[in-house]
Amino acid sequence: MIDTHCHLTFPEFQREVPRTLGEARAAGVNGCITISTTADDALAALQIARAHESVWCTAGVHPLYSDKGPHDWGIIRACIADPKCVGWGELGLDNHYSKPPKEIQLAVLHEQLGVIKDVDRGIGAVGAPSMTGGAGKPIVVHCREAFSEIVPLLKASGIAPGRFVFHCFTGSVDHMRLLLDFGAMASFTGVITYKNAENVREAARLAPADRIMVETDAPFLSPEPLRTKRPCTPAMVRLTAEALATVRGVSFEDMHRQLNENTSRFFGINAT
Ligand SMILES: [Zn+2]
Repeated sequence: MIDTHCHLTFPEFQREVPRTLGEARAAGVNGCITISTTADDALAALQIARAHESVWCTAGVHPLYSDKGPHDWGIIRACIADPKCVGWGELGLDNHYSKPPKEIQLAVLHEQLGVIKDVDRGIGAVGAPSMTGGAGKPIVVHCREAFSEIVPLLKASGIAPGRFVFHCFTGSVDHMRLLLDFGAMASFTGVITYKNAENVREAARLAPADRIMVETDAPFLSPEPLRTKRPCTPAMVRLTAEALATVRGVSFEDMHRQLNENTSRFFGINAT
């Protein structure tokens, strides 16, 4: 099993990465994808991914960091060309907070989708014609209270819908229908184990088996019964996978096999 979304570059894991990966392996979690939030963070994530066989990374600008510009798309393009960098993101929209302002979040999202399309088309950044690797890689979407806004926007980008995963799905059945009809994947965190998250469990029952993945979003969102434990670590993704199996009424073994298949197909890695 792979934790498809965590943040090993965050201060909680400083000097703790080898121990964290060891604990994960002991829990049957054989790897993780560390997701970046800025260009500098993408470099740091790539460094960790290169140092550990079972770690992969992504490159992109998180909507809540969209005001930390100017964003160095050259760095992000250099990262995405690396074989250990398996996707873009996380990128998207966050309406939960009033900052950064909506205009900035939208501008950076549009800019980022433009960079992805340039790389797909093999258009090099000025002065860096060799940095066109990474075409067609998947895209990790951060969408908080923004489903009806972001789905049309991603649709309009012309990028293949099957390349998108909506990470940390916390929406309703209607939101799930929206993203499934669009053609994206949904990924669940420990939120699915929370008492007040019946809407998320209901939505999780609706998704076809080949459209779901699991993640921790560590250091945040420890699943029950460890909800009060800080930080959340990749080892805990197992609890989320167990909860998802229960919610969907399948055995853990079947869920496990399906999640490995989905993760391997979507990110182009060998998830075991
Ligand atoms: Zn995240």
